[in-house]
Amino acid sequence: MTTVKDAPPSVVLFDEAFDRVSNEREKLREMLGGKGAGLAEMCRAGVSVPPGMTISTEMCRQYYAHNGTLPPTLMQEVMEKVKVLEERVGRRLGDEAKPLLLSVRSGSKFSMPGMMDTILNLGLNDKTVGALGKLWNNERFAWDSYRRFIQMYSAVVLEIPRERFEHLLESARRKHQVENDNELPVPALMSLVSSFKEMVKATSGKVVPADPAEQLKGAVEAVFRSWKNPRAILYRNLHHIDHNLGTAVTVQAMVFGNLDEQSGTGVCFTRDPGTGEKLLFGEYLINAQGEDVVAGIRTPEKISSLKSENAALYGQLEKTAQLLEEFYKDVQDIEFTIEQGKLYLLQTRTGKRSAQAAVKIAVDLANEGVISREEALKRIAPEQINQLLLPSFDPAEKEKAEKESRYLGKGLNASPGAAIGMVSFSPHEAEKLSEKGHKVILVRPETCPDDLHGIVAAKGVLTSRGGMTSHAAVVARGMGKPCVTGCSSLLIDLEAEEATLGTHVIRKGDVISLDGSTGEIFWGAMAMKAPEFTGELTTLLEWADSFRALGIRANADTPQDARRAREFGAEGIGLCRTEHMFMDQERLPIMQSMIMAASKEDREVALVQLRAMQKEDFRAIFEAMDGYPVTIRLLDPPLHEFLPSLEELLESVATRRAKGLEGQRLFREEKLLKRVRELKESNPMMGLRGCRLGLLFPEINEMQVTAIFEAAVEARRQGIEVKPEIMIPLVGHERELQAVQQHLEKVALSVMEREGMNVEYLFGTMIEVPRACLVADKIAETATFFSFGTNDLTQMTFGYSRDDAEGKFLQRYLDGVEIDGEKHKILQDNPFEILDRDGVGQLMQIAVQKGRVVKPSLKVGVCGEHGGESSSIHFAHKIGLDYVSSSPFRVPLARLSAAQAALK
Ligand code: PEP
Ligand code: MG
Repeated sequence: MTTVKDAPPSVVLFDEAFDRVSNEREKLREMLGGKGAGLAEMCRAGVSVPPGMTISTEMCRQYYAHNGTLPPTLMQEVMEKVKVLEERVGRRLGDEAKPLLLSVRSGSKFSMPGMMDTILNLGLNDKTVGALGKLWNNERFAWDSYRRFIQMYSAVVLEIPRERFEHLLESARRKHQVENDNELPVPALMSLVSSFKEMVKATSGKVVPADPAEQLKGAVEAVFRSWKNPRAILYRNLHHIDHNLGTAVTVQAMVFGNLDEQSGTGVCFTRDPGTGEKLLFGEYLINAQGEDVVAGIRTPEKISSLKSENAALYGQLEKTAQLLEEFYKDVQDIEFTIEQGKLYLLQTRTGKRSAQAAVKIAVDLANEGVISREEALKRIAPEQINQLLLPSFDPAEKEKAEKESRYLGKGLNASPGAAIGMVSFSPHEAEKLSEKGHKVILVRPETCPDDLHGIVAAKGVLTSRGGMTSHAAVVARGMGKPCVTGCSSLLIDLEAEEATLGTHVIRKGDVISLDGSTGEIFWGAMAMKAPEFTGELTTLLEWADSFRALGIRANADTPQDARRAREFGAEGIGLCRTEHMFMDQERLPIMQSMIMAASKEDREVALVQLRAMQKEDFRAIFEAMDGYPVTIRLLDPPLHEFLPSLEELLESVATRRAKGLEGQRLFREEKLLKRVRELKESNPMMGLRGCRLGLLFPEINEMQVTAIFEAAVEARRQGIEVKPEIMIPLVGHERELQAVQQHLEKVALSVMEREGMNVEYLFGTMIEVPRACLVADKIAETATFFSFGTNDLTQMTFGYSRDDAEGKFLQRYLDGVEIDGEKHKILQDNPFEILDRDGVGQLMQIAVQKGRVVKPSLKVGVCGEHGGESSSIHFAHKIGLDYVSSSPFRVPLARLSAAQAALK
């Protein structure tokens, strides 16, 4: 039962808030709004704040519950508190000798800048205006304040259109031949006040009340009303803020920044929000009121120049900023007014900052002893780390490009970063151009494994089809290469080597700029901003390493990627996709001849050549990962992916036959066509791939394992510490693994025996089929490690094709499907990006638990795309995995996320 004592107070003075409302920051913000809570906290911290009170958000809720009427005793309570303010300030509301003026402002739990209403200079009327002038010995100031008050009150409370005041001001300025309102002489201000009043009366039949108590009631009601004005509603909808929260109202004694040259107003951050540097950062105006800074009529001065103009005041501001930062333990964004040389704070809130500043500030605050290292780590959003590491376009340049109509369109932001280059529609040509030193953007309807050499050569990739986990997206992300996919308005004519996007025609050789972080495409070359791996970022990540429980590995297929992964802090390779090693111009024909071989002997010839190439790849990767484990996955994709496409071959063969070109080439192509037809499957993702391939063509696995062990032996001879972990993909039945592993262990032993050297190694499997999760205990009898291939596991658990789902229905599932006028949002997140804990996650938990019952030492990791995604990393930590593996560029993010998961 709620007792009277428990009832929340309707109105509290700033300095009573902690005793009467709560000393919990969250509760305070809920009841008094961000502004009211901030003012209460500033009072408590001993900062100079003009005295005031806050009417609670509960009063706003009651106002709406009673059809827009104020709770009956509210204004009486407010007027009692006003008496306290009067005593503190030594002036009285409506007093004809020493009048007190008030400001009335809104403030809800979540900041809604500029969305609700404010009234300043409340308490002025025809009598008090004269007293105000005498009190401050400044008649102009008094009449200017009165003019502002009538204008603001009439607009906000009486709802008179603002333009009407502007018309009258404009004619006054013209009449007195001045440019700015603050140059109007006193008689002009006096006559403006009269004409404002007349206009208000004529327009609405209403008058601004002379009685300050009545003024105050009208102002409080107007602020409550503004909670439901259309722009506030829209803002809340956009930011998912609850419409039932209501706003608080702060009523505060006015201080004046527009009294004289010893007065002023400004805003400042306690540290630079762009760089994080520890200095006061902001702007101020001498002899001005707050709204003048916002209105931009005069150009404000940099806060640093206050130091030379008034060192004492600057010192005060610096001290206060420091005090607030110490109190909040974070950067503050403050509003201040200087009244005849005395500094007052009107508002403080947590300062918004850039990614670079966020990292520097968190590390600096921890080094200064203000916050702990744990807290510093918690303060950085993992995605901010990624922003820091990627090149990006200069924001000013983007604005310019839009004005100059160089913005072409937008697709999916598949792989972040910025790239500039000349357009090429052919992977082959892209490779050639890049060899000649050109920067290329590869533009294709979509990409497939055959195009890999073109992707490697390109600076960025643009496709008209495909989603966030399409081939282009996955490969580009893995390489840290900017990529925009699914740009459906891009119409490509591969034959003509041109495309249209919006009203632009893009021809081969044209230069375009791609922003993979936003999906935007621009014409021409945009100016870039370089990424920075600052000292603070290094420090922060070292701290992360000291807290995290998860190991961090990288998915890397080349020695170059492996080296980069090490630089970014990876502790090994979690997935080396060996198929990528067969895709370049030199190796593909050998791979094809292996696939085409008519006999085992012919196949052997090709395999020997491939083995030598693979061996050197592996040796170089071991070298780059000296001392760390390297998980090498045996060949996974269906073989037809290494051959030309069926359509391409059919067309070429048909053309040659029609033209009577009966040569060697036709013979070769016909042979190829036959093999491609043999290998063709309706559903290759569920076909002859993964371990099934190795079971049917054991010599491929044999070649790869021989190459791995030969490389390992050679690396060891060179003094490199090697730890190969051989991973057998797509196992669904324990006997698949048993058969493959038994054979390959023999191969490994025979190489080591032949070479006379032992190597520390492991055999394990990928868990990417739901059945494998359910029989993980049986699989663990053979495997020494599991690595969750969450891309395939998601595909097979949901039954969504990872190549097609996005373009076909997934986006609709995410946006909401409309049936019979009702919107059904099927999925909250894309399961290919954020691990689905309920389904896929449950299967993973079963697998971990069953696997470890049989083999407590079983090492378990994730190497699907989810290994580089923050919330999935938290899940990996929660279910007790040993490591996550992500693309090298996401390793820093993974280090931080893993630490945050451990600190949760
Ligand atoms: C996976 O399926 O999650 C995986 C890592 O393998 P791939 O993406 O190569 O199929
Ligand atoms: Mg897979």
